[in-house]
Amino acid sequence: DLSLGTSLLVGLVAMTGWFLSGLAIEPIQDSYQHLKQFTADASHELRNPIALIQTNVQVALADPELEMPEQRQQLEVIERLTQRLGRLVDDLLFLARQDSGMLEIDYQPCPLDAVLMEVVEDQRALATSKGVHLHLHLEETGAETVPSEEPFSVIGDYDQLVRLFTNLVSNGIQYTPAEGRVRVTLKQSLRQGIPYLKAMVEDEGLGIPAEAIPHVFDRFYRADPARQRSLIPATQQPVSSGKVMGTGLGLAIAQAICHNHQGQMSVSSRLQQGTLFTVTLPQQLSRKIDVKSAPSEE
Ligand code: ADP
Repeated sequence: DLSLGTSLLVGLVAMTGWFLSGLAIEPIQDSYQHLKQFTADASHELRNPIALIQTNVQVALADPELEMPEQRQQLEVIERLTQRLGRLVDDLLFLARQDSGMLEIDYQPCPLDAVLMEVVEDQRALATSKGVHLHLHLEETGAETVPSEEPFSVIGDYDQLVRLFTNLVSNGIQYTPAEGRVRVTLKQSLRQGIPYLKAMVEDEGLGIPAEAIPHVFDRFYRADPARQRSLIPATQQPVSSGKVMGTGLGLAIAQAICHNHQGQMSVSSRLQQGTLFTVTLPQQLSRKIDVKSAPSEE
């Protein structure tokens, strides 16, 4: 019921505080093995109650006897916040694992065109609901950059590459008004004889102010003041839009994944005209991967 949901949520927030404070001090205090166990435990401890709240709220919302509109509204607020908390925990765990070198990366020959097709199809519903036109272009140069059956192949972790581009494409859609376009383009290119793939995500949205550009990859950074709404008490937030707020970690994660694949990411933007994110990934890895190092500023 509602009070159970609320008390579970309060408990979860307290536990998240405990987890975050642990994240801050643990790396200096304890051994690598201890940290590994801590992260695994924290992941389990935080994910389970979140899933439990989500199930309880969904059951309560599906109850045909739930007639009071205020109760429904409160439950929807809990559902939305729990969803957001779930995303935040997932994103924080990703970065905690990245920082401590515990992120498992499954390097395999990986078709980047398939990655982008999957991302675009997954994001199509969001684009349609916002009236944004979403396009994907694959541009083969004709020159065989890597002798392979698969011209858009990179060595990488499929799921992580999906996560990288999902963050970029969903941002593009989120910040573009209705009737605007988001274009995803994949090209082959050669740089000093080394074959690269260039993936671009270009939107016709709000743009990013020049002074904010150096910070967009920072953790928890948000350039758009309207998004500070998330600081308003949950009950005062509009629930009708059903919009899930971002965590402010999407671009930090995208950059970390790019770094893990020896790639580079850049951004250029014009206010009220749009933003272009360019990700450049080598088709073959040039050096031994060291995932324990923190991402460098690129
Ligand atoms: P969030 O979860 O807030 O989207 P991100 O790390 O993905 O977090 O992005 C950080 C900030 O960069 C956003 O809050 C927004 O201010 C800005 N930003 C990211 N992508 C875009 C874009 N395509 N257009 C305009 N602003 C963007």
